[in-house]
Amino acid sequence: MTQLSDPPATTGAVPRGPVGAGADDDARALALDRAHVFHSWSAQAQLSPLVVAGGSGSHVWDHAGRTYLDLSSQLVNTNIGHGHPAVVAAIQEQAARLATIAPATANLTRGLAAERVLAHAPEGFTKVFFTNGGADANENAIRMARLHTGRDKVVSHYRSYHGNTGAAVVATGDWRRVPNEYARGHVHVFGPYLYRSEFWATTPEQECERALHHLERVVQSEGPDSIAAILLESVPGTAGVLVPPPGYLAGVRAIADRYGIVLVLDEVMAGFGRTGRWFAHEAHDVVCDLITFAKGVNSGYVPAGGVAISAPIARTFDDRVFPGGLTYSGHPLAMASIVATIDAMEAEGVVEHAAAIGTDVLGPGLADLAARHPSVGEVRGTGVFWAVELVADPVARTPLPPAVMAQVKAGMLARDVLPFVQDNRVHVVPPCVVTPDEVRTGLAALDEVLGEVADAAV
Ligand code: PLP
Repeated sequence: MTQLSDPPATTGAVPRGPVGAGADDDARALALDRAHVFHSWSAQAQLSPLVVAGGSGSHVWDHAGRTYLDLSSQLVNTNIGHGHPAVVAAIQEQAARLATIAPATANLTRGLAAERVLAHAPEGFTKVFFTNGGADANENAIRMARLHTGRDKVVSHYRSYHGNTGAAVVATGDWRRVPNEYARGHVHVFGPYLYRSEFWATTPEQECERALHHLERVVQSEGPDSIAAILLESVPGTAGVLVPPPGYLAGVRAIADRYGIVLVLDEVMAGFGRTGRWFAHEAHDVVCDLITFAKGVNSGYVPAGGVAISAPIARTFDDRVFPGGLTYSGHPLAMASIVATIDAMEAEGVVEHAAAIGTDVLGPGLADLAARHPSVGEVRGTGVFWAVELVADPVARTPLPPAVMAQVKAGMLARDVLPFVQDNRVHVVPPCVVTPDEVRTGLAALDEVLGEVADAAV
């Protein structure tokens, strides 16, 4: 049994300190970046990105050796921490043996990677389709559901993120949805979010019941025979770590069953330890038909993702071509890193550690901040997956404005803590291997910044 005092963190596995020519390389990195790198999700002229040159465990640092506690896990990704020696060694060894092969070949490492993923999927899941990341996992899951059912529409939440490619970005329901030629057949519903209930609910039970009623009415109104899939994040992540109330996902399953709809759970962010379980949906007494994953499956050491497929859907393609796949699907370096990551997580009790951190340190620490800071509207989460929602008016629940959130972020960085700030929220999402002391350091920085910046805006 993992002891919190004896965490599985790998801090020290990679030499820490100045990398290359110190501050000169920081200046060069920034200059080259600003001159030539076109960044995602940004107005290019307004950027001044942090230089990151190295990392280990829960820390990253620049060339000069300035070190930050990484409460963001680099887009909620490095569940096993930076620089895990076994994963690094597996990638190096695989690169020397065989660095690339076509997807249609059989390869032992790929078979082992599929076996490792399925070992943590529900019973009855038999196959894995490997992708290069989360968006194309959702893209292919949608395609499988459409071909399996012969139907077209996909229902997803307004508050969701499913990736930035054709259908995945249209399934995404909030401001990040980019209309495109794949927009055909996408329908959105409101999911449960008691703090800002769309259903005038005041209890989790009401929120759950009314959200399910809303979903079923939309399904009926759209015409159940036209709906291929319901695609939901098990715990909507970038939309605010919206842990569903008890019974919601099981209720969605019942609706899907009533109308012959494929249930796809997106575990790209919530999966592989982040919630203190291998898959987040395990806490919700639900079995879906397709699971999409990426990020934590190998902590992003090499781009990788996939779709875990239940037997009935897998069988659809026994004698029928599945028209999907990219040159790098099931890439050997990605496969080796998946095997090594899952093996290390099992051996080191990383998932159990994440659960204990959430229960014993991070959850209580954030609850304490919520009790003392008027700017904290709500704290919610589980494991190492938390959001602190900041408000300018605790009664009206008015979100703290972007200018103040920018100051919150700057205040954290000034204290050598790298936060994940999204809209009016600070997401506290460290690696699963974060130590209790590291959590306390991060919370102390947040405590100071809330007092200095956020509370002052209330
Ligand atoms: N699905 C969820 C829930 C995500 O959080 C993300 C990315 O953050 C994606 C899909 C897209 O993954 P990727 O960026 O690897 O394509």
